[in-house]
Amino acid sequence: MALTATTAQGADKFNYVVDRFADIEILRYQVPGFEDLSLNQKTLIYYLTEAALQGRDILWDQNGKYNLEIRKMMEDVYTNYNGDKNDPQYLALERYLKQIWMGNGIHHHYSQDKFIPDFTPAWFVAQLGHKPSEELMGVIFDPNIMPKRVNQAEGADLILTSANNLYEGVTQKEVEDYYNALKNPNDSTPISYGLNAKVVKKDGKVVEEVYKVGGLYSDAIRRIVENLHKAIPFAENDKQRQVINELIRFYSTGDLKAFDDYSILWVEDLDSQVDFINGFIESYGDPLGMTGSWESIVNYKNQEASHRTEVISENAQWFEDRSPVDPRFRKPEVKGVSAKVINAAILAGDSYPATPIGINLPNANWIRAAHGSKSVTIENITQAYDEASHGNGFNEEFVIDQPTRDLMDKYLFITDNLHTDLHECLGHGSGQLLPGVDPDALKAHGSTLEETRADLFALYYLADPKLLELGLLDNPDAYKAEYYKYMLNGLMTQLMRIEPGKDIEEAHMRNRALIARWAYEKGQPNHVVEMVKNDGKTYIQINDYPALRQLFGDLLREIQRIKSEGDYEAGRDLVETYAVKVDPALHQEVLARYAKLNIAPYKGFVNPVYTPVLDADGKIIDINVDYSEDYINQHLRYSRDYSPLTR
Ligand code: ZN
Repeated sequence: MALTATTAQGADKFNYVVDRFADIEILRYQVPGFEDLSLNQKTLIYYLTEAALQGRDILWDQNGKYNLEIRKMMEDVYTNYNGDKNDPQYLALERYLKQIWMGNGIHHHYSQDKFIPDFTPAWFVAQLGHKPSEELMGVIFDPNIMPKRVNQAEGADLILTSANNLYEGVTQKEVEDYYNALKNPNDSTPISYGLNAKVVKKDGKVVEEVYKVGGLYSDAIRRIVENLHKAIPFAENDKQRQVINELIRFYSTGDLKAFDDYSILWVEDLDSQVDFINGFIESYGDPLGMTGSWESIVNYKNQEASHRTEVISENAQWFEDRSPVDPRFRKPEVKGVSAKVINAAILAGDSYPATPIGINLPNANWIRAAHGSKSVTIENITQAYDEASHGNGFNEEFVIDQPTRDLMDKYLFITDNLHTDLHECLGHGSGQLLPGVDPDALKAHGSTLEETRADLFALYYLADPKLLELGLLDNPDAYKAEYYKYMLNGLMTQLMRIEPGKDIEEAHMRNRALIARWAYEKGQPNHVVEMVKNDGKTYIQINDYPALRQLFGDLLREIQRIKSEGDYEAGRDLVETYAVKVDPALHQEVLARYAKLNIAPYKGFVNPVYTPVLDADGKIIDINVDYSEDYINQHLRYSRDYSPLTR
């Protein structure tokens, strides 16, 4: 690996922070161990990263009908500008561009709210040299047009009020009727309806426009497939070759049965060191939770750290058998819970620039039940987060006392990683539905309650002496670091991500609020957790950690019941009571204290740049890694080189 200017002083001096704007900090991540991979593996990764980058425009278009057009116009104005670069209008354009790159569109990646530019319409039109349509000007500048990408407010037509581009000209009722007519309640291996399609009305009829070669997004998908073909000769084994071939078949046909076949092959490929996802995966971007947002992550196993998750997985049944849920809802046999720690080689689509730190796939319930799921923790990303956050003043401001801060300094990195491991390897894979229960019974609250379930499973077991016995922790008090952080975050500090007056919307944030507030309330008679005031500031004080663990267990029991029985009303009530509303006074306080620290509440990443090194015959002899590209140049390059859908 060739180290570049940013790492010239050695790994210790690696500069993690790339950019800072609005509420965002952009980091870079390293790819440790890449240089130790074989040439075949490196070449495989290279073509898979190319396949990943070619899908970028798909997500932009899924996120909003005008996104690609707006990006193109903004980038044109930005790159053609030759006036004063300190002009506030120009700086406002630069900030807006950075924001839409981060959001993969004109809405915030997390709050889903539309960005409103600080430059004037008149300046923009003058720079552009022509006036875009009224419609487009409204989409860019009018806060009332397409205000939210994904609307989850109970009671509204979630499709009509969401600005995303997954549906057009259809109501929520029409979409629900359409899919209900297709679904067979007795089908034990149902395809993931709607996963790869836009639903539209044609000649008065509701129809799907399928994402595939020859269908919607054909030009991008074709390039993804081209690179998948190039990757095949470098596959590590036959199984991996089959995985890639089946994914190509899915992209070529749009057949969701092929996607299930691919998913099964993928989840059963446990031997390859290089791995990847590439497709329409998570459905958080769809208020109905059906259509998958396009994403890709290419990665390779971090052998050392994977030992941790292997130990957890080997003991999956032990955890399942002792979980505090009703025995009827436990899995008699936990199958194929595989887990590993990986390093990301590239983040793309819905995993870029903001990225998850753990993933657990596939999402289809029946495949998970019959074939297990693959679970990963992305360690080079969590490491970048951790390194970048040291000394930012956060703990000094919000954590109640020095002993708690010391405990967090010492144990938060490992317990945070273990929490993610347990959440992904055990939490999502645990439990079972009663026969005949519709996996979608919890509807709009399904994602929140599923994340709640997985988090509770992880929290409950993080405090279990079993982890010491397994050698995963060396101090029986270590779990308190994560418990403290979790309660602090769920009760208070995650509010920094919410604008004044707004509700909590995002599924993971709702889940954290639900758990923390429920445990706080139920523990009040015994003062398990208190919110105390000191110098006018609110602090979380945990008086009884073992009792808090019991409360997590109690709530896990109830959430699993709700999921297993498909008890929509009970699930909705929990979410509405604990997970949505914000205490305005506390919110104000958190924002004010946080603002003084000047920490960005959200992080995004830039990718390394991979360049093949060729010999005289044009044969790849190595893959060079470069970390020096900054945020602006990366996006402008991606728009130039990987924009098959942009006209
Ligand atoms: Zn999860």
